[in-house]
Amino acid sequence: MPVAGRGGISSALVVGDRIFVVDCGRGSPSAYANAGLDFARLDAVFLSHLHVDHTGDLPGMLLYPWGCRADDHGPLAPVRVYGPTRPATLPAGDATFHRQTTIRPELPAPGTADLVHDIVASYAYHLNVMPLDASMPDAGALVRAMDIAIPARRGTGIPAPTVVFDDTDVRVTATAVTHGRAVPALAYRFDTPDGSVAFSGDTAVNANLLALAQGADILVHHIADLGYLERHGYTGAALERMAALHTDVGQVGGVAERAGVRQLVLTHFLPAEPDAITEAQWAERAGQGFGGTTIAGTDGLRLPLSASASHPPVPRGHIR
Ligand SMILES: [Zn+2]
Repeated sequence: MPVAGRGGISSALVVGDRIFVVDCGRGSPSAYANAGLDFARLDAVFLSHLHVDHTGDLPGMLLYPWGCRADDHGPLAPVRVYGPTRPATLPAGDATFHRQTTIRPELPAPGTADLVHDIVASYAYHLNVMPLDASMPDAGALVRAMDIAIPARRGTGIPAPTVVFDDTDVRVTATAVTHGRAVPALAYRFDTPDGSVAFSGDTAVNANLLALAQGADILVHHIADLGYLERHGYTGAALERMAALHTDVGQVGGVAERAGVRQLVLTHFLPAEPDAITEAQWAERAGQGFGGTTIAGTDGLRLPLSASASHPPVPRGHIR
């Protein structure tokens, strides 16, 4: 739900002159601009899963900056959008939670490439008509979508992370995490010359994530306070559902400790209302059992990755 005083779900990783965005939740294009980031440097977007709080402003992230996606040589390379592929089957509900109506029965669970295709198709008017009144780059070069297919699990072991891409500076790997019936849901890890960052996506405590994040410099992790939800009306099966979707504030420090990361950065708070739980409280409680630094993120928080970075950290979040 949109709440006053806190933006939606989105992070950016700057590597050299390239910018990688993880999730495009509410307000992400504005947050990107407010952070002083250049849309001409946007290299790729990674979607953790296809719930709308992670994808709702993907159209804006692609379409608002269309005009700047060119230089003297023509259109810039397309923005790449990576994310989950279509699930093999439409997840089923149960007696309590089930669909009243199936939307788009011929393709009820579209994947990332479908989503991007449909965004471009839905904005065909803008993409076809705008170039008649203004100098615009070729719309056909605006975006390329790539589905990430995580191989089916074999046996009981932890699957090796899937390499999403690997070039001279950046290696991106993904693994499947557990977020209720949102399948596939992914976590990502970026390995760069300056260090490594893992993004949990939305997940309950997950062995795949522990393996993916092992030894990373920074783990950006979503967080929920299940006790708060319990005090506000979630009980029994409803609370169990929330526990199958999220990592509790009492668990995330242990996740960071077992993953052996240097820094834990909290994001995507549940509850999200800033006055429900203060950042100091989030950081204090989440950091229990973790020997590294815990930071409760705030909108616009910037952190250097390299320990030798010339800019010292000036976190606006709360540090434990
Ligand atoms: Zn979410």
